[in-house]
Amino acid sequence: MRYEGVVYRPPSEAYSLIVQLTVGCAHNGCTFCTMYKDKTFRIRPVKEILEDFAEGAARYGDRVRRIFLADGDALVMKTEELLEILSFARENFPSLGRISSYGTPGDILRKTKEELTRLRKAGLELIYMGAESGCQQVLRSVNKGASRDEIIAAGKKLKACGMEASVTLISGLGGRKLLKEHAVDSASLISEINPRYVGFLTLMLDEDAPIMEQIKRKELELLEPQEVLEEMRLFLQHVHSEGTIFRSNHASNYIALKGTLDGDIPRMLAQLEEIEKEQRFRPERFRAL
Ligand code: SF4
Repeated sequence: MRYEGVVYRPPSEAYSLIVQLTVGCAHNGCTFCTMYKDKTFRIRPVKEILEDFAEGAARYGDRVRRIFLADGDALVMKTEELLEILSFARENFPSLGRISSYGTPGDILRKTKEELTRLRKAGLELIYMGAESGCQQVLRSVNKGASRDEIIAAGKKLKACGMEASVTLISGLGGRKLLKEHAVDSASLISEINPRYVGFLTLMLDEDAPIMEQIKRKELELLEPQEVLEEMRLFLQHVHSEGTIFRSNHASNYIALKGTLDGDIPRMLAQLEEIEKEQRFRPERFRAL
C-alpha cells in the first residue's frame, strides 16, 4: 500500500482499510485546518489506486469489513472513475460492508442526484461532511468555501439519494463573540438536514493555521472549557433531529457525550450539569487533534 504524507480519517474508521484516491484537499482553504497544507492537491490515477486495492485484498482479503476513501475529499473524483473503484472493491473484498469517504458540500452539490444514487448503489454508503458551523458569519470568517444554505442543500441531497451523512461541527469556532450564534445556528442546521450522525470536535490549532492571525489580533478568542460547555448546552437546547446519533468523543473535546438528538437530549443536558458541577473536563494535556 502506498501512502503519501499524513493520512487522516474519522474516529469511526479506525479499523477500516484506507486507500488514498486523492492526495490532499481540493479546497485546502479553511483557516483553522492544517491537515493538508503540506500537500499539493492531486487526484491519483485510477490504475495506481486499483493496484493499492489489489495489494490490500491480497494482504487482508476477507478481514476487511470497511473501506475509507481518503484524502480530504475523494468525492471530487469523476463519477465514472469512482464507480470503477467501488466495483473493484466490492469484487475483491468478500466480507466488505460499508464504504465511506469525506465529501465537501461543493463536491456533493456538483454531482447530480443520479450520479450520487449510482454511487450509493455501487456501495458508497456514508459521506463525512464537514459543516463546522451553521452560522453564516462563522463560515465566511473561516473561509469554509460553502454557505449555510449550500451545506443544508448538500446534506439533504445525500439523504435523498439514499446515502448516510455524518456531519461534523467544531465547538468554539465562533469564539466568544459568536458563541451563541454558532451554537443556535448549528442546531438549526442539523435539525434541517436530519443527518444520520453528528460529530463534535473542539477547536484545536496548529501554530501554522491561518486563523492564528485572527487570534493574535484578538478578533477571535478561544473558549475556556466552561464556555464550550455553555455552547454545547445551547446547541442541545435548540436542536431537534429525530434519530440522529450525536457524539463528542473526539480526542480534541473537553466533554464526551453520546446519544440521539431527540430522545437522549434531556439525559445529555443532565450530564452537562453534572460535568459543570464537578468541573470534570478532559485535561488540556490529554487533548489531541
Ligand atoms: S475542506 Fe476539510 S480538509 Fe479541506 S481545508 Fe477545509 S477542513 Fe481542511
